[in-house]
Amino acid sequence: MNLREQIAKQYEGPCACGKAHRVILDDIRIGSGILSSVPELVSRYGSKAFVLSDKHTRQAAGQQVEALLKEKGLFGGAYCFEADRVEPDETAAGQMLMHFDPACDTIVAVGSGTINDLSKLLSATTGRPYLIVGTAPSMDGFASATSSVIRDGLKISLDTIAPKAVVADTAVMKNAPLRLLQSGIGDMFAKYISLAEWRISNVINDEYYCPKVAGLVRDALARCAANAKQLIARDEEAVAAVTEGLIYAGLAMAMAGVSRPASGMEHYFSHIWDMRGQEFGTPFDYHGIQCGIATRDCIRIYNEIRKIKPDYTKAKAAVDAFSWDDWKEKLQAFLGKSADAMIALEAREQKYNPATHPARFARIAERWDDICAIIDEEIPSLEDYDKLLDAIELNETYKDLGHSTDETRQTFYMTKDIRDKYIGSRLLWDLGCLEEVGETIFND
Ligand SMILES: [Zn+2]
Ligand SMILES: [Zn+2]
Repeated sequence: MNLREQIAKQYEGPCACGKAHRVILDDIRIGSGILSSVPELVSRYGSKAFVLSDKHTRQAAGQQVEALLKEKGLFGGAYCFEADRVEPDETAAGQMLMHFDPACDTIVAVGSGTINDLSKLLSATTGRPYLIVGTAPSMDGFASATSSVIRDGLKISLDTIAPKAVVADTAVMKNAPLRLLQSGIGDMFAKYISLAEWRISNVINDEYYCPKVAGLVRDALARCAANAKQLIARDEEAVAAVTEGLIYAGLAMAMAGVSRPASGMEHYFSHIWDMRGQEFGTPFDYHGIQCGIATRDCIRIYNEIRKIKPDYTKAKAAVDAFSWDDWKEKLQAFLGKSADAMIALEAREQKYNPATHPARFARIAERWDDICAIIDEEIPSLEDYDKLLDAIELNETYKDLGHSTDETRQTFYMTKDIRDKYIGSRLLWDLGCLEEVGETIFND
């Protein structure tokens, strides 16, 4: 039984959460030497494949894929990005489209982050199905129908199309650069926070939550954590475990219909670092590296949350002191053009409306023990998390990523404005403790 069937058997169909879950991929192949199955998969969807790669991924597996396809008469054409670092922007999209051969009826993308994002766009634009041949277990976007791209200098998510199949050859992926291996498992570690926040929002806001989908991610995360050390030793079974985790995280988001199972406050630190990088040229790193490091700060933040006793007088004073104009000004100064979407979001969402605060606070106070129990269950201790970071040799903090303490404190405050999602920073705003915790955590 292949992985897709295993997951489908357990998760597909009507669920107690009220949704009918669906597995968005036709096929998932993970294994040593599995690259050889690419021609068979291509022939399911067409007879002429267009191979997309960049100069690193072509070297890693693209040439081999092209040769395998040629052998079976399934090769239709190829384009390889020559730049050292390809960004998923208008230039790359234009190059890819202009080199696409319309006689090709399928697309085989060889790569991970950027190539994956671009090939989804090519698939959506040309109407040709695509397969992704992963070259690094570096992020959880394999099984997803959105592309993270840069448009007009802004990082945005575009609805595109999911691949038909993911082919992950562990003999190829184990040779990925160390930073990409760390990035992939860092994107998995982020799930400690996202799963906790999904449950917390379910308690506070009655937000939709599926225990079964959360369980899929939680189990995958546990397998990744158990394989952390071996991953860095480039052990193929560990590479397989992490790749599987990343694919499952994508499937879980698609099954739940929300990104809750896989992204929370830690992802918004990363998004803000990316946004500021685009806007002001400040440093940014791989997605999962940023998420893995921000997860450490989120654990520190939750350790502070854990010490709080909800106090309505204090919370109300903070809500009353909130100034919309001041908030807007700070957001624009810190995030530039990216702030516009967040200001528009708040106009619709009204999270800072003092009229809705008392009821939310009452629920928080009433369910405080449950909220603390969720934190204890889902989020590891800082000591245990540092052991995981040690195991993957990622002993870095936000400072090593090039961010000052002041800047990171501001980043923390603004995580609550990125999406319409209830996360730790919003909980702290509701409690009237946001700045107190910000100053405790980011103080040196
Ligand atoms: Zn469900
Ligand atoms: Zn992620």
